[in-house]
Amino acid sequence: MGYYNRRGLSQAMQDDGLLLFLTGAGISTASGIPDFSNPSTWWEWQGRRIEPLQMATQRMFRVRPDWSWSWYLYRRSLVHRSHPNDAHLALVSLEEQLGDRFLLITQNVDGLHLRAGNSRERTFQIHGNLDYHRCTEGCPEVKYLREDLLNPGKQLLPRSVLNHLRCTECGSLTRPHILWFDERYDETWYRWESSLKAASQASLLAVIGSSGNTNLPRRVAETAGEKAFLVNIDLKDNWFSQLVTSRRGIQLNEPALLAVPRFAQLVKAARL
Ligand SMILES: [Zn+2]
Repeated sequence: MGYYNRRGLSQAMQDDGLLLFLTGAGISTASGIPDFSNPSTWWEWQGRRIEPLQMATQRMFRVRPDWSWSWYLYRRSLVHRSHPNDAHLALVSLEEQLGDRFLLITQNVDGLHLRAGNSRERTFQIHGNLDYHRCTEGCPEVKYLREDLLNPGKQLLPRSVLNHLRCTECGSLTRPHILWFDERYDETWYRWESSLKAASQASLLAVIGSSGNTNLPRRVAETAGEKAFLVNIDLKDNWFSQLVTSRRGIQLNEPALLAVPRFAQLVKAARL
């Protein structure tokens, strides 16, 4: 593994900053999680195809909460058929080794990091999580959805499903705990400020399987890149590649499934 920049890595380990891991869809590919471009996530109803870009909006939820929930419970069924893979598990061992120096920021809503064993405290789910819902009237608690609220048959569920999706505090309808396309990042639900603060305190940032198509991951990388050692793990070069190269970081064009466990071993070795 001569192409790893061991010196950069040991330097990052010696500093006492955060070791930050940012994950995107690429880490879940080996678990079989379909992304939005996969037809299995498209929705057809009465002969019309509704694109995920229309479905994943507050607007759709306001007009047809039953359609919206049917789609999200279907997507929850898909992720519940999947399992965390070795890359997820490597991040769990990193958290165990590194404790408070470890922080995970994920763009994924599949919940696989939590199911693998990463803690909620050290996992910022900046786009939400399909397993959780929250009150539409703003009651503060984000709650785990009842285990049997699923839609494996990809059906339009009867409106009565909404009876099971009520806030236990005030009785209002709940919504998926997901950042929709017509909404903005914020601190309360999605840890916007905390993510940027963590980036400014990082001595290492490893980006794993993220193409950099959304704003917050880019800002995290730009902020961290001012002083942190950067690693970018993805099959192909992407938005982060140039940043990594210009800061003398490491670009690894490998599947997360292989690269992350290996990288975790190197981090372990660098600590010895
Ligand atoms: Zn409420």
